[in-house]
Amino acid sequence: MKTRKMHNKSKGDFLTDFQKDNIESLAEYVADYYCPKGAVNPEIIAEQSKISFSYGNYGDSFDGLLEHEYGKFHIYINNDRLVHPYTERARFTFAHEIGHYYIDHHRNALAQGLAPSHPSFTGFVSDNLVEREADFFASCLLLPKNRFKQDCFRRKFEFKLIQELSKKYQTSLTATALRYATIGCSPIMVVYSVSNTIKWYWYTYDFPFWSLKHGKLRVPEDTAAGEYFSKGKEYTSSEIVFADDWFNIKFESDMSRQFFEHCVYGKQQNVLSIIWEK
Ligand SMILES: [Zn+2]
Repeated sequence: MKTRKMHNKSKGDFLTDFQKDNIESLAEYVADYYCPKGAVNPEIIAEQSKISFSYGNYGDSFDGLLEHEYGKFHIYINNDRLVHPYTERARFTFAHEIGHYYIDHHRNALAQGLAPSHPSFTGFVSDNLVEREADFFASCLLLPKNRFKQDCFRRKFEFKLIQELSKKYQTSLTATALRYATIGCSPIMVVYSVSNTIKWYWYTYDFPFWSLKHGKLRVPEDTAAGEYFSKGKEYTSSEIVFADDWFNIKFESDMSRQFFEHCVYGKQQNVLSIIWEK
């Protein structure tokens, strides 16, 4: 049993396996308990958990915020940054704030007044551990493992699959691709770069290469993401890259292995590369 479990794991530098496993089980439990079918609705979870919430216009001060006052919790969602309550980003932010409530040490810190309110900028952009944990909780809550695995069963990986899942669960392509790499239905790697440096990357246990060509220092030039940073080029289709373009290769025979790279471009010089073997 132990080896089997190992093969389901993913690797990366976003969170440790221990943090990841605990948060994933917690989020799965909350999702299945309150929203057992289809897309998860964070508003229903908040209502049933007796957390009040409101949508308002708060400028640039936060995406979402969990506040604790007189024993009660309240979630604020900022329409100024998230447009309206049903955008993927608003749902993700709402789920992130629910994470601050359900993850014990986040809620306890709030309840004890150590952090009276919790302003968040969500969507895998923060280096802060608490924020990364809440982001990961959000992706597990909105993309529950068992449902997700059923949808991926016997399906070969292609970018279209991420698009379909993202539509079904009303989650962003980034959150959906990261979730795919965590659950590990088939070998992929996701690399998130901002301004030509690599912020984090994540890959399934069975992905053939683990060592990025320049580490996290900079995006390799001859990759689709590299071309975005050097020439501003944006691809709409999945592009072919060689193993040698992205990774440090030990054996010469591996150099010409072909991969697809599909880039999802963000608004602030950020690119998510989804990489899988051809
Ligand atoms: Zn937060």
